[in-house]
Amino acid sequence: DYLSPGLEGYAAYTQDMDIFNKTQQKLLSDLSQAIKLQQLSLFSQPIINLENKQLIAAESLIRWRHPEFGLIEPERFIELAQRTGVIYSITQWVAKTSIQACSQWHQQGLEIDVSINLSSKDLLQHEFVDFLAQELDTHHLQASALIVEIREQALMQEPVISHSIIERLAAIGIKVVIDDFGTGFSSLSHLRALPLHGIKIDRQFIKLMNKGKKHQTLVNTMVDLSRNLHRKVFAEGIEDIEQEKVLKSMGCQYAQGFVYSRPIEIEGIASWAKQWQQQLES
Ligand code: C2E
Ligand code: MG
Ligand code: MG
Ligand code: MG
Repeated sequence: DYLSPGLEGYAAYTQDMDIFNKTQQKLLSDLSQAIKLQQLSLFSQPIINLENKQLIAAESLIRWRHPEFGLIEPERFIELAQRTGVIYSITQWVAKTSIQACSQWHQQGLEIDVSINLSSKDLLQHEFVDFLAQELDTHHLQASALIVEIREQALMQEPVISHSIIERLAAIGIKVVIDDFGTGFSSLSHLRALPLHGIKIDRQFIKLMNKGKKHQTLVNTMVDLSRNLHRKVFAEGIEDIEQEKVLKSMGCQYAQGFVYSRPIEIEGIASWAKQWQQQLES
């Protein structure tokens, strides 16, 4: 009771910071072992064609099953991984596992694409495109079944390198999509000059659509822009039917969000697809 509320607050703050730093340090040292110890896990989220509701792809989203902290979301360790350079081995693992899963889907007659996320550091890896080509070949999967998502901010951070990577990816038939579109101010000329398959409008803009016409106009502008350049438009973070309706009327082609499915374990995608199809037909 001697402590003023302010001081108490201060004490709590420094203690929290201490725990935070210790946790970060522990995560950092554990991360380098995570692949070897098979603690990484791939989740996957369906992507739907708004025109006919068919499943067209599934996005791989990584999770880390930490023995002490439980399931850790990517937002808590991808940054960290980028700082230590372990990110590229994570990306390789994600790519390999995703290509393998997609190849199995195709063998079962489920002809959907698989989508993976790159970090900006991956763009600096010269052999990355060859690595993907090799993995596709090993698993007998056509390149056009692979979607590579590059965040708009990464594109802006490494413009020269990302341009050459995107060109090389597209040259072998891999689809490149700009992720989190609208957050990174990429210029129109980039969009036109690059051999992009499409853009994925960031979730924050989809969320704002419920707040009124002004926000809908912004999304509509992104859709029109992309369509005028003959690029596909994806939207992420669709949580209700109203958002779906509005996006569809704007001409947005593909959608992903909790309204269809949360990310599920990648092994469950084939049975999710079966159920989804049954529901469409009933
Ligand atoms: P992202 O690529 O933009 O992925 C979409 C994120 O939005 C995912 O979060 C997904 O679970 C979430 N989401 C999807 N639909 C909804 C919805 O309707 N409502 C809400 N509130 N959220 C929705 P997640 O899985 O936590 O991933 C966060 C970010 O971490 C990803 O954003 C991506 O940038 C990064 N990430 C995930 N996996 C990988 C990976 O394997 N490699 C790299 N480099 N980054 C990854
Ligand atoms: Mg993504
Ligand atoms: Mg995204
Ligand atoms: Mg996003």
